[in-house]
Amino acid sequence: MTQKDAYTDNSFSQRLLKWFDAHGRKHLPWQQNKTPYRVWISEIMLQQTQVTTVIPYYQKFMERFPEVTDLAVASEDEVLHFWSGLGYYSRARNLHKAAKKVVSEFSGTFPRSVEQLMALPGIGRSTAGAIASISMGIRAPIMDGNVKRVLTRYFAIHGWPGQTRVANDLWEIAEKLTPESRTGDYTQVMMDLGATVCKRSKPTCQACPLEDSCIAHKLGQERLFPESKPKKDKPEKSTIMLMVVNQNGEILLEKRPPSGIWGGLWSFPEISDPEQITEEAQDKTGLMLRDYDIWQPFRHTFSHYHLDITPALTFVEYPEENTNCVIKDSDAYCWFALTRPPELGLAAPVKKLLQKVERTL
Ligand code: SF4
Repeated sequence: MTQKDAYTDNSFSQRLLKWFDAHGRKHLPWQQNKTPYRVWISEIMLQQTQVTTVIPYYQKFMERFPEVTDLAVASEDEVLHFWSGLGYYSRARNLHKAAKKVVSEFSGTFPRSVEQLMALPGIGRSTAGAIASISMGIRAPIMDGNVKRVLTRYFAIHGWPGQTRVANDLWEIAEKLTPESRTGDYTQVMMDLGATVCKRSKPTCQACPLEDSCIAHKLGQERLFPESKPKKDKPEKSTIMLMVVNQNGEILLEKRPPSGIWGGLWSFPEISDPEQITEEAQDKTGLMLRDYDIWQPFRHTFSHYHLDITPALTFVEYPEENTNCVIKDSDAYCWFALTRPPELGLAAPVKKLLQKVERTL
């Protein structure tokens, strides 16, 4: 098979489908009862996240929200709670918005075209292609990290796939390679091949159905593709997270704004000036606070910057009778009971710090 054959006689897709029948993954939870809703949730969870991590989250999510209508009527806090730990929380907020839209604009039935799917929040062309091909049998290519890896190696495509020119080339190639039939299996095999054979660091080319015509393999240059994004140093930011405990042993949490990092999740109130911790904290929350205990700082890295977090533990000084304490803006804050934790969306470092506070008190 040559690269030209790959387009003209379906040999590329036929080899892959044959391999899929023998070796493809067919028992993942989202491969059973392949409805658009189930495929969609799995595709969003699998973005930036490994299959083994996703499986337990997917199962719990599906138990709680078995249909798009269940997701649409849930509160955002509950959706974020079921997403807690998966990261990239805008994915969960967009899922929630899209579910509402599917219910209000399409009576709870997913639209049957890539363009209409792409009009839903959080669904890009690749996710739309996966939903359309896997759950509806529509001929539509996908372009996730696995597909980029296989195609850039097979055709030895230079340049970072995030660059518009390279991305356009890849979509054009993917469009041509997608077969007319068995489109769902073809989508699945592209993902499977990338995840299990054409792996990032050690591709097992001897087990690959494309071995005899893959250019990168012939040149012994598998590791050179896909090319990386040109490096830039990540900026560093810092914050002080204030862990305020009241007389009941509950901890003060603050709801973050809907957009930005950890958008809509609950976190600790944050302050910035290490010289003015008590003053800033009192200013922000309205609470009278005792002295604080500074804990060891640690780093949390986002895709676009490093955040150095200094936790500070403190206690409410003069709680008023029967009211625990007075907080300036009670809608933005809540008291988190460690013994009866409410179902709230919490960022991963906040979850860890709460556990540490529990061990300390
Ligand atoms: S031959 Fe190797 S590098 Fe080429 S597609 Fe197969 S696994 Fe990837």
